Amino acid sequence: MAATSVNAEALKESPIPEVVQPQASKQTIDPYNVQGEVGADGVVKAIDYKKLVEEFGTKLIDEELLARFERVTGKKPHRFLRRGIVFSHREFEVILDRYEKGEPFFLYTGRGPSSDAIHIGHTVPFTFTKWLQDVFDVPLVIMLTDDEKYLFSEKRTIEEVMGYCNSNVKDIIAVGFDPAKTFIFSDFEFMGGAFYKNCVRISKHITLNQARAIFGFNESSNIGRIHFGAIQGASSFANSFPFIFGDDEKKTCAIPALIPCAIDQDPYFRMTRDVASRIKFAKPSMIHAKFLDALQGPGTKMSASIDESAIFMKDTPSQIKNKINKYAFSGGKVSQEEHRAQGGRTDVDVSFQYLRFFLEDDDELERIRQEYESGKMLTGELKAICIKELQQYVGEFQELRHKVDDETVKLFMSERPLKWVGNPHAPRV
Ligand code: ATP
Repeated sequence: MAATSVNAEALKESPIPEVVQPQASKQTIDPYNVQGEVGADGVVKAIDYKKLVEEFGTKLIDEELLARFERVTGKKPHRFLRRGIVFSHREFEVILDRYEKGEPFFLYTGRGPSSDAIHIGHTVPFTFTKWLQDVFDVPLVIMLTDDEKYLFSEKRTIEEVMGYCNSNVKDIIAVGFDPAKTFIFSDFEFMGGAFYKNCVRISKHITLNQARAIFGFNESSNIGRIHFGAIQGASSFANSFPFIFGDDEKKTCAIPALIPCAIDQDPYFRMTRDVASRIKFAKPSMIHAKFLDALQGPGTKMSASIDESAIFMKDTPSQIKNKINKYAFSGGKVSQEEHRAQGGRTDVDVSFQYLRFFLEDDDELERIRQEYESGKMLTGELKAICIKELQQYVGEFQELRHKVDDETVKLFMSERPLKWVGNPHAPRV
């Protein structure tokens, strides 16, 4: 074989082009962009979730499904379900059927470590997942997509994202997951074995054309990005985790996942469901949350990559107060007189929206809504309530976070059998 001369220059990484930002006119929601429609006046409109459900082909969670959930589990729906924050799904009813019959399934969610701390928006899918874990009593896998955060950024190094993993895992554990039922892993560390087999199985069934159509890649996209969907999809299959579900692939590939996440992640799993049908694996079900708005207002999501858009779970009480007072978009009127006469808009007011997500008491939330919309409550008063609620939410989290040490991280991230019961009233299968 002729010796190949290695060109040192060619081995240097060329600059990574970012995913091309779509025209800032129509609503764009995908794993890399979250933006509502931009009107002719340049103002970003709130995200139209009804339209999104139609475009994505998911189903809205309706009263009937919630009633069935309550009947089957005996649990009152979480405030996110009651308030339409967790609002859409793909075949959630399949999971309820399995729970009713005592058939196995598992939960799968994740985080891309893009910063050293998670923000209050990230706690939405995690808090909801923890609640589902308590309700269903099933195993949970949590994927840290450190590879994704490297591939999709021009600046981040592998060391940087892997560094974020450790602190992000501590944040995630502080949400309250049960170590007996939870496995957390970093893609960089876990890749190989059964998991890698599934990555390759999925990638073999996705053409470049499909990846372009689903994710909007172009000729300048690096090939790691094009492949990444196969990695995110592989955790949907129970046979990726033989130490949890056993070695009998014929049985484990029939165990479906329920994936709670915000709706921007849907394209990955729409693709995975399509591949699952073709390779005769169980299709994952999904349950989607809306986004917690950026402090700047509806139409964009709170993002860890944009510091001033977010309240982080490591923020101090005074940082929370300053951020809300300085940045939180107000639905109030320009003058006090006008506000008293006409009232404020709770649908766009960021402080009210944060209370919708985090204030547990339905009656208190309704009282605040009525008083703000009628003009009885002023923006300053609403912000003060929001500040107090978030200081308490973040403060309680920080107390738990202090107790998470490196040993606990090791435990959650070790490959080991998990213990779960499932539905105690179902016939045993
Ligand atoms: P960031 O820019 O903050 O890193 P991200 O979308 O890349 O944002 P991930 O860590 O990849 O964050 O997402 C983990 C989970 O949290 C996903 O289900 C994602 O959809 C969800 N999520 C991210 N931001 C928000 C938000 N503002 N509100 C609700 N869920 C969110």
